Amino acid sequence: MEDEVSKCINCGFCESVCPTLPSAGFVASHGARGRVDLGLSLVNEIRTGKRSLRVSDPFYSCLDCFACLQVCPAGVNAGKVSHLAREIIAETDLALPQEKDLAAMIVSVTMEKMNPLGLRRECARWSSGLSFSKNSTTLLYTGNMYQLMPYSFALGRAGKILGEEAFVSASRFIRKHPDIAGITAFMKNAPMEKNVNLYLRSIYTLLRKAGISFQYLGEEEPYPGTFIYDLGYINEFSIYAERVTDIFRRRNVTEIITIDPHTYDLLKNQYPRYVKGFDFDVRYYAEYLQNLEFRKTGERVTFHEPCHFVLRDVKDFDLKRMIGNVSKMELPERSGKRVMCCGGPAELLFPDISKNVSDERFRQLKATGTESIITACPVCFSNLKKDDSVEDVSSFLLRHLM
Ligand code: SF4
Ligand code: SF4
Repeated sequence: MEDEVSKCINCGFCESVCPTLPSAGFVASHGARGRVDLGLSLVNEIRTGKRSLRVSDPFYSCLDCFACLQVCPAGVNAGKVSHLAREIIAETDLALPQEKDLAAMIVSVTMEKMNPLGLRRECARWSSGLSFSKNSTTLLYTGNMYQLMPYSFALGRAGKILGEEAFVSASRFIRKHPDIAGITAFMKNAPMEKNVNLYLRSIYTLLRKAGISFQYLGEEEPYPGTFIYDLGYINEFSIYAERVTDIFRRRNVTEIITIDPHTYDLLKNQYPRYVKGFDFDVRYYAEYLQNLEFRKTGERVTFHEPCHFVLRDVKDFDLKRMIGNVSKMELPERSGKRVMCCGGPAELLFPDISKNVSDERFRQLKATGTESIITACPVCFSNLKKDDSVEDVSSFLLRHLM
């Protein structure tokens, strides 16, 4: 942390691309430079043994998009600063009650149920009637991310309706009684569930058409622990990641097909740091589709690139080329290394900031004037689905498969 924050020359370039700064009404601490400044204060407090700061808000509202890093002349990553600060906050009492209780509830339910809402059965429903190869060493690992969107979306709204105090009490209660976390099953957004099930089945069909055989864990499929890692609960995350890895090992898996950018990034880049001998061949499903043939249409579409792929050192999966081969693809004013996050990562703790970011991103996407907006991440889809023009790349590609 100290190495990262001490590089800052206070130029403010990062503020021009940080999505949360304007979305939080230009409150400096909710922008990239403000987070770096606070990180420095945190380092000083730790050094002097003082504990006067209650600074969790700005670090939890960070989207971890890394847009700031792309423009910083000193190479400071305010997203990384936020993550390191959350690790410190998770071990101390620097967090505000709503954040601490909600984060602790999510960690506790995930550790107990291997799913942040205790919904493993619900997360397997999309696969009803589909066949899988039990003996394959290749695993289709959904990581539950698409499936959880209809519930987390509703949970965010519930938090707003209940108000802070009631939400904190509910979080505390569920934390102590993880078995009742499953009541969130009644809070699902049904139209969104229909969409994500279609996308999961589209991914399945595309992979099968590409000749890939794979197993699937069904109701046993664990969530990868993304929230635990993102919230900074690193000790818990390393224990949890071991448990998930044990499940892969028990099923003789050697190759893992992930289907969303967050799970891919976590398994590819974080699991090997925390799980000894994590040597699985982790891939993204689009890698397997390169030899499929798609029909060319004159359809004009706009592609919202996932920042988890574009702004990190992640391989280019040729999604742009694939979409461009099928249609007349356009990119919004912020694309490539200047891509703007959808706001999704802040949805649970900062629904207002998240909504403002997604409204602005949606405006940019609409400004291209195309008929459709294509996303390639369930979090982006959930946050940007403000009308019927938004669609996941999986069903878009399947519709055009020859
Ligand atoms: S762009 Fe980099 S050096 Fe400039 S204020 Fe932001 S973090 Fe500091
Ligand atoms: S990671 Fe994204 S949200 Fe966080 S400070 Fe950087 S630009 Fe802002």
